[in-house]
Amino acid sequence: MKTFFQFYLAWLIAVAIGCSVPATGQLADPRFVRQGIVQADDPGCEASVLVSIGGAFPKDPRTLAIRWTGYSNFELVFNGQVILLDAYFDRASMFPPLGFGAVDVKRANLILIGHGHLDHMSDAASVGARTGALVVGAPVTTEKLGTQAIDPKQVRTVTGRGGELLEFPGFKVEPILGRHGEPPKDVTDAFDSALKAFARAPTSEQAKERAAIRERGTSDPRVVTEGTIAYLITLDNGFRIMYRDSGGRVTDYEKAAMERVGRVDVALVAVSASFLNTLTVQQALEHIRTYKPNVYIPAHHDADYNGLWRATEPLFQALKDENPNIVTVSRGYREPICFDTENNIQRRQGR
Ligand SMILES: [Zn+2]
Repeated sequence: MKTFFQFYLAWLIAVAIGCSVPATGQLADPRFVRQGIVQADDPGCEASVLVSIGGAFPKDPRTLAIRWTGYSNFELVFNGQVILLDAYFDRASMFPPLGFGAVDVKRANLILIGHGHLDHMSDAASVGARTGALVVGAPVTTEKLGTQAIDPKQVRTVTGRGGELLEFPGFKVEPILGRHGEPPKDVTDAFDSALKAFARAPTSEQAKERAAIRERGTSDPRVVTEGTIAYLITLDNGFRIMYRDSGGRVTDYEKAAMERVGRVDVALVAVSASFLNTLTVQQALEHIRTYKPNVYIPAHHDADYNGLWRATEPLFQALKDENPNIVTVSRGYREPICFDTENNIQRRQGR
């Protein structure tokens, strides 16, 4: 009886201690879990301010901070370096505001352009010129940059067909030839005309804004087959990121690269423009079966005020049905997602 009483007392104490643990303890309470780092007290992982426009670096140089800024734009910050993926910031008044403009982007070491359509490269030249960053893109992309106000010495052309490893302080980048999305025209035409019936027509000012932005990208048909580059970014400690800015089919180049490296820690991948969830899911499944990411972060899912955002919830559910261990993360414009890069697949698997 005495033993039972002692046990009961111990249980009572344990419950009392358990109840007094503050909510900020180990609970995954979304109000307290700040971007994956609990109680970090790190503005570099909490503030919705890009480092490229003057925000704080994460306190620990091994922390990777990722911020999405609409369409396929991301800012990656690691080891004191700022990498911009795509450069389409001045989207005009037809779009929800990003909270900053191209003119505010003053700090970047590297700009990787996935492909040369206007909604991926229209601010690459001006931001590259202002920051002095190296700007990397496919031949059709850098041809366009050659007509714009940026020093050609700052521009690097890559084909993604191998042998082009780019090395930077703390990380390296492998360009891999991808393929642009090719959504079925019957589906996109039907949706586009349905949306048009309800859309507010652009004012003449807005039409002018759009025309000026369109001038700063290319619509060359080569973009689809030889102008879309996926970038495999590997940090010095082995943490891997795959970036793909268009929701197209996986190429043999991507398959070969992934057979070589196995898996990535984070995949930043554009959602296909096929509108129907059955089709966007099908494409996303091909991406995750190839990249085998630990964490999937979608891109290119927002839209102008007249368009439809590409739904991420049905996509996330399908990815989790396929792989219950996958982590899916989607945040608002500029909100940071931070990773402790020392914890990575390559290190765990010793490869
Ligand atoms: Zn495109």
